[in-house]
Amino acid sequence: MHVSSTRNVDVIVIGAGAAGLSAAWQCARLGAKSVTVLEKAHFAQASSGLSAGIFNRQTADSADLRTRIASVDILSYLEARNLMTLNRSGYVRLLRTQEQLDQTREAVRSSGSSHSAVLDSKDVAELVPGMWTEDVFGGMYGAQDGHMDGSDLCRAYLQAGRMCGVTYRSRTPVLGSRKRNGRHALKTPAGVIEADVIINAAGSWLSRVGAMIGTSVPIDNQRHQICLVRVPSLMGMSLPIVQTYFPGSGENSVYVRPEGPGKFIAGLHSYESHSASENPDTYGRGVDADYIDRLAESLIQRFPGWEDASLEAGWTGLYPSSPDGRWIIGPHAEDPSVISVGGLGGVGLTVSPAVGLVAAEWAVLEEVSALPPDLVESFKPSRFADAQVDA
Ligand SMILES: Cc1cc2nc3c(=O)[nH]c(=O)nc-3n(C[C@H](O)[C@H](O)[C@H](O)COP(=O)(O)OP(=O)(O)OC[C@H]3O[C@@H](n4cnc5c(N)ncnc54)[C@H](O)[C@@H]3O)c2cc1C
Repeated sequence: MHVSSTRNVDVIVIGAGAAGLSAAWQCARLGAKSVTVLEKAHFAQASSGLSAGIFNRQTADSADLRTRIASVDILSYLEARNLMTLNRSGYVRLLRTQEQLDQTREAVRSSGSSHSAVLDSKDVAELVPGMWTEDVFGGMYGAQDGHMDGSDLCRAYLQAGRMCGVTYRSRTPVLGSRKRNGRHALKTPAGVIEADVIINAAGSWLSRVGAMIGTSVPIDNQRHQICLVRVPSLMGMSLPIVQTYFPGSGENSVYVRPEGPGKFIAGLHSYESHSASENPDTYGRGVDADYIDRLAESLIQRFPGWEDASLEAGWTGLYPSSPDGRWIIGPHAEDPSVISVGGLGGVGLTVSPAVGLVAAEWAVLEEVSALPPDLVESFKPSRFADAQVDA
């Protein structure tokens, strides 16, 4: 039996979003000599605190599905230790072509997942009263999936990390870096901090931080907006999260998730790019009037029975996506002591437990057993070696 050996390394994690805090906790659990998180503002201040918080294991892409299953096991571990709350409202992804239905059946069969049921259109209609289902072939349903709060998740990682010895430094931006005696010397306003290994978990700033530490990694920051929906007539009912987007469809389509009695969060979701990449320091934070119109139109079409629904602006954030829509996790060929973890798009909270563990295994063990080798290989940043990177 092969046993990985722990390296006696000082690790610095740049960025205290879900990816960085998850990776830091796992590095400490794996026995790194020291683990320090450097965050330019405060934890969950960026995408992780602006998310809709949905977690689910309902996707037909097998790499994605396996990552999500491993992740929800770790979320349940944090929940069982009273470090965070998971609202298991249930989740249904609508399947709107025969091909999507077939692909979903195959994914559930081949993964052996016990977390998904493939429903027919009649079951879906019963699950969500007032929803238009004439174009629905079926649904991929997880009764134990649901939603969480992004800040609550980050706080859980932070607490779990601190219990294992992680040091967390807020208001400590990394401003530059150079190598000194084979170690990284990171410049911060609090002085130079040294480490053997760096994990770049800077979310929408991944390219910029990558450039600072001599590694090239592309990021495509997609602006996504959220609105609040009130439907007083649904006050006494518990509804699951409804997702109409199917991965790979190219659509930017509507989802709703319960937020409280008669209250929902809604938005348009996609894995694909629908606009130019945004600057994370200057993108528009407000909700656009034409977005509210588009969302209202989608909601009226999908939920014609929710006659008393009203819509109000919520907030805006960035999906830090990779150019091919898959996660970026692994060491860089140009400097294997730098590991990037990012490109988590619109599912970064959901997959943060497993992707953080993979990054930590790279940092501390130099090999990964948390996920199957084909997945681990497909996540490596080297696939973008020839990409043009705007840092
Ligand atoms: C509107 C919206 C809805 C979403 N809904 C969901 C959902 O329902 N479910 C889901 O799973 N995901 C969802 N997401 C996606 C999810 O929020 C992201 O994928 C995830 O938060 C990315 O985490 P991260 O840790 O990579 O990045 P971030 O959370 O952005 O963290 C990166 C951190 O790095 C720090 N940093 C940057 N540069 C430096 C530097 N030089 N020095 C020190 N620190 C630095 C930043 O300050 C930031 O705190 C949503 C996102 C948005 C915007």
